[in-house]
Amino acid sequence: MNDLALVGGRALDPAGGIDGRFDLAIKDGRLEVVVARDARSEAAESRIEAIETVDASGWIVVPGLVDLHTHLYEGVSHYGIDADAHCLARGVTTAVDAGSSGAQTFPGFRRYVVERATTRIYAFLNVAVQGMISRLVGELEDIRWGSVPQAVARAREHRDLIVGIKVRLGYQMVGDDPEPAMLLARQAADELGLPVMCHIIDMRHPITWLLPHLGAGDIVTHCFHANEGGIFGPDGRLFPEVRRARQRGVIFDVGHGQGSFSYSVARAALAEDFPPDSVSSDLHSHNVEGPVFDETTTLSKLLHCGMTLSEVVEAATSAPAAAIDRLSEVGTIAVGREADLTALELCPGRWSLPDGAEEEEVVETLVVPRLVVRGGRAIPVEPLARGVTELEVAPG
Ligand SMILES: [Zn+2]
Repeated sequence: MNDLALVGGRALDPAGGIDGRFDLAIKDGRLEVVVARDARSEAAESRIEAIETVDASGWIVVPGLVDLHTHLYEGVSHYGIDADAHCLARGVTTAVDAGSSGAQTFPGFRRYVVERATTRIYAFLNVAVQGMISRLVGELEDIRWGSVPQAVARAREHRDLIVGIKVRLGYQMVGDDPEPAMLLARQAADELGLPVMCHIIDMRHPITWLLPHLGAGDIVTHCFHANEGGIFGPDGRLFPEVRRARQRGVIFDVGHGQGSFSYSVARAALAEDFPPDSVSSDLHSHNVEGPVFDETTTLSKLLHCGMTLSEVVEAATSAPAAAIDRLSEVGTIAVGREADLTALELCPGRWSLPDGAEEEEVVETLVVPRLVVRGGRAIPVEPLARGVTELEVAPG
């Protein structure tokens, strides 16, 4: 007898080649059975018997969502929010903190955040030792805050959680010349054999200066922002260097954030056949009540801009899992693995959603979470983020 079964839904795991009506059963925290509905026989029927059976009809069961860019160091970083309230309860079973902590503050992040959360949390370690504490002073405006030896030592101590090095290259964090900060991050990442994640919004120089520093597996986050330092050249076309960077394996991540996602930039990129590799939220205290709200609302916006459901699911499951080298643990549906799933529903309506560039558009399909399964346990979720409401339809 299984512990839990999800029956009657559509299972979708593009990387795992699953798309169709499947029933799933979970036992002892592991995914025990995945069986196509068409293939249901009496034998199959008994295989999915469970103590608790959830009717998943109308839902899309996907691998537990992986949000590649979040900020979860609540109480220490001004950006911090509670992971379980804003990630797990919103459909994200794995959240990656993007540089909230540095070498000197990571032990607290591990002890007081990661180890207490039900959300599975990994982290990019900020190359600045203090991480992202305050907005008053950028973390590398004074480059003396950056330390390669400390970052390398800390990441080696916490290899189970630290998946890369983060550096923010905007003028607010590094002043007008981002290169010294980038060189520190590059050196630390190379010594560790881990990727660098670069925040590219508000760089004083065109992104072409940065790309020669990036190789396969490195991540450009905030790829669809509309400020200085973006992926489009002065001619309004994608920089050829950006396309070549992708061809050699550089990953382009959405990182929506407070001001780092523009509908028009996203559409222009899709029109040039340049979809994002991963769709992350950059959820933090200053955007959780809008314009981001959460990861599934971010997915809704990319769907609205023209990506397919299959593409956005891949960009929020297997793609980010691969980017942090954890695809063997999360990001796909496979029998024998820890049961880590998200059930989504596509809600038609008129949802007025802001981007991060002062535009508001009416999105006609909202992706909402209905249930998460983490460690084999079904956890109810809040379908709608606070602040997301449907526009009233005018009578007649
Ligand atoms: Zn961020």
